Amino acid sequence: MNFISTRVENENEVTFSYAIQNPSATYGGLYVPKELPTLDENFFESHKNSTYKEVAKSVLNLFKIDIEESVIDEALSLYDNFDNQDPCPVKEIKDDLFVAELYHGPTRAFKDMALQPFGYILSDLAKKQDKNFLILAATSGDTGPATLDSFKNKPNIKVACLYPDGGTSDVQKLQMVTEDGKNLEVLGIKGDFDDAQKALKSLLASSSFKEELQKQNLSLSAANSVNFGRIIFQIIYHIYSYLQLLKQNTIKNGEKIYITVPSGNFGNVLGAYYAKKMGTPIKKLFVTSNANNVLSELINTGVYDISGKSLKKTISPAMDILISSNVERVLFDKFGANRTKELMDSLAKDKKYTLTKEELELLREDFEAVATDDKYAIKTIKTYSDNGYLMDPHTATCIKAYEELKKDSTPMVICSTAEWTKFAPTIAKAISGEDIDFSDFEALSMIANEKHIEIPKMVKNLFEKEVIFKKIVDTKEIEQNILNFIK
Ligand SMILES: *Cc1c(COP(=O)(O)O)cnc(C)c1O
Repeated sequence: MNFISTRVENENEVTFSYAIQNPSATYGGLYVPKELPTLDENFFESHKNSTYKEVAKSVLNLFKIDIEESVIDEALSLYDNFDNQDPCPVKEIKDDLFVAELYHGPTRAFKDMALQPFGYILSDLAKKQDKNFLILAATSGDTGPATLDSFKNKPNIKVACLYPDGGTSDVQKLQMVTEDGKNLEVLGIKGDFDDAQKALKSLLASSSFKEELQKQNLSLSAANSVNFGRIIFQIIYHIYSYLQLLKQNTIKNGEKIYITVPSGNFGNVLGAYYAKKMGTPIKKLFVTSNANNVLSELINTGVYDISGKSLKKTISPAMDILISSNVERVLFDKFGANRTKELMDSLAKDKKYTLTKEELELLREDFEAVATDDKYAIKTIKTYSDNGYLMDPHTATCIKAYEELKKDSTPMVICSTAEWTKFAPTIAKAISGEDIDFSDFEALSMIANEKHIEIPKMVKNLFEKEVIFKKIVDTKEIEQNILNFIK
């Protein structure tokens, strides 16, 4: 299957392997599949009892990507390292309410579901073509650890990761600074996530930096969800969630479900959108936002407007976003390349775009959305914890969709995107009802004691590991540090 750009009509098609090595298409567009494979009732009937890897293999086969079967098998075998035999367990927590736990990978957030196999595939391509890639990542906490873990000690790849010093949880920071790999560099930045991201962008525009990369025979690539290599793996678990409800006899084959996704860059819910379009019986996709409500505003009013907005810091930092890249892929799918370019140009120029009434109706055929705030998330974490289910602040936003958007008995699957261990101080505050600033370690121990649960080894071990990366640098020093690293 080939890939086309979201901003140009009738342009040359590219292969999957090209698209994942060069994720940026013409005019700053993104690559999308030219057509999607379809899943019929037989597919669901025959995979009711399949393992996650078997479902993944079948879905990837339907996409006919130009990656050898043996490489796909190796990539999928990385799910064996997750700490649960099923990498995506789907659990019922309330009437018609199910949680797909996407956080059983090494860095305890859903990013591992895609980055683990994607990292293997990209590195294998680089090796076979004798190319070398530098991957730059600026992180607010989850993408960094997942990228480093995926690429550590992989041939032909180097990763430089920037995180805001003091802007992540202790667990997230430890996941980065204790990651041991000769091909990794991790820099703490004096500043916030925006500063880290700005520094990264100016680096990408710097001619001296590019010259140096060329001298070292390095090409740049990206591992964020603009890369379709991640999206393809994010389609699979939504299909798998449907299969789990079939297997558990919650639904009959063909009956519809709702899927709710706590969204930031829109990559996770885009995967669900493609799953729906391919034929997974999904009635609606519910998108939840935190106080940075650009996505819910778009889906409710048809206006994407960041002109008067600045980023608000919340307890669900992975959803703190103003420019949500993957919305573009849905716009393309619904309105075509010319209109997408028009809307994206308008966003770049006026910091705003407005859909027509008809366009909004089309968008709302698939999506509904609701915004929340920190107070809501804290209250919800407490209520559900009292009833025996511990959820992180991102996942908690999904409960609002259960309360407000679900208006019938159709079962709902919410995507749990991070484990409680990644945001333990917030959760300790929520369940104790006290405004105390716990350290991550204190909070983890307190919650584990109170709830009679174990802190997973992958988290506990972090506190004993040696800190490898100690540098905290000024944004002006980033370029020199990265140049020293790649030499
Ligand atoms: C990345 C992330 C999100 C947002 O996912 P998108 O695909 O960017 O919409 C939500 N929750 C957690 C915990 C994350 O790490």
